[in-house]
Amino acid sequence: MDAEIIAVGSELLTPLHTDTNSLFLTERLNSLGIMVRFKTIVGDSKDDLAAVFGSALARSPLIVLTGGLGPTEDDLTRDVVAEVLGRPLKEAVEIRRRIEERFVRMGRPMPANNLRQAQVPEGGEWLDNRNGTAPGIWIKHKDSIVVLLPGPPRELEPLFDAACAPRLKQFASGERIKTRVYKVVGLPESEVDNLVAPIYRAYQDISTTILAALGTIEVHLRARASTDEEAEARLAELGDKIELTLGDHVYSTKGESLEEVVGMYLIMRQKTVAVAESCTGGLLAERLTRVAGSSNYFLGSMVCYANELKTRLAGVPANLIGIHGAVSKPVAQALAEGARARTGASIGVGITGIAGPTGGSPEKPVGLVFVALADERGTQVREFHFPGSRDRVRHWASQMALEMVRRRIRD
Ligand code: AMP
Ligand code: MG
Repeated sequence: MDAEIIAVGSELLTPLHTDTNSLFLTERLNSLGIMVRFKTIVGDSKDDLAAVFGSALARSPLIVLTGGLGPTEDDLTRDVVAEVLGRPLKEAVEIRRRIEERFVRMGRPMPANNLRQAQVPEGGEWLDNRNGTAPGIWIKHKDSIVVLLPGPPRELEPLFDAACAPRLKQFASGERIKTRVYKVVGLPESEVDNLVAPIYRAYQDISTTILAALGTIEVHLRARASTDEEAEARLAELGDKIELTLGDHVYSTKGESLEEVVGMYLIMRQKTVAVAESCTGGLLAERLTRVAGSSNYFLGSMVCYANELKTRLAGVPANLIGIHGAVSKPVAQALAEGARARTGASIGVGITGIAGPTGGSPEKPVGLVFVALADERGTQVREFHFPGSRDRVRHWASQMALEMVRRRIRD
């Protein structure tokens, strides 16, 4: 069975919001053996939604709509679906009771609007939403199934797992879809493709995509088979060859971020890390501390932008800055060694560079970044020339700093 997803919400058509529900839904549907053939994002407009839903109904046996189930005038999904299907809205007494109860519990009067959420198209069943007032709705219509789900991910996700997945199991084809993601650092996209294309071309039954994210190349494999085991076996066969070819450029095979992988290594080796950041202004520390449990290995960060603070906080000799300039190999080295010496960490990292767009010169252009790593074996410094905007340069600098730590503790 193939599915189609319709994400409803005008905010999803602005530059400010992304439709993440369809990613979640696709993952869950795939794991039930259901392929997603179409995804549409449509604003809170009656006519547009009616048009999109009408075409979906004509071509897809399973249609999942998300959003537009709120209590306000601009929440139209329920009404439009009822109209297109020719099923008038009926009040679900149990839902009305629950909504009323909820407001009594909160000690607030209930705006009449809220009762819109108790309306269900005739013949539809409501699905219990334990995290909000809008229930999901399940409608069997001729040969199609139409599912309406609330927009907020924290409501939609548990609702889907508890109420939709079990119902969908009986319709699923029995085909299983499994995916695997290899994350690669330190190789450009074209080179990754050159290396792995000759391998994956021989596997016509597995769909392979290569995606470039900031600082990371991802190789996605997707296999379809009649059982989970068979799909996994296909993925393992191709995946192992790919991993072998890409070698230690692969830092993750289970979706982990680079900072998570670095954290795991640090715990495994019982090492600690401290950083002294100029160019990245704390970004490396921020990434390291995104990981739960990072207090076990991350000691802290000195954000030293001013030259005087590089000296005061990280002990960088003032004359070193005077001779070589703040953005230089010796200063990066001194930052790393200072971070290590002043905190007692097993590993010190120093970053200095020119993030731009201003501040560059012919000798020291925008994008020039030095990253240093100091540990008991000595100090290594790498020079990078990152292209792109200030954000990109800073992200790349933090990425390569993490990568240097990863490689150092793997060795
Ligand atoms: P709604 O059900 O349309 O009232 O949606 C309520 C909220 O859910 C919106 O303000 C968004 O923050 C969120 N939301 C709606 N649709 C999506 C979507 N497709 N992906 C992620 N968040 C969404
Ligand atoms: Mg909305």
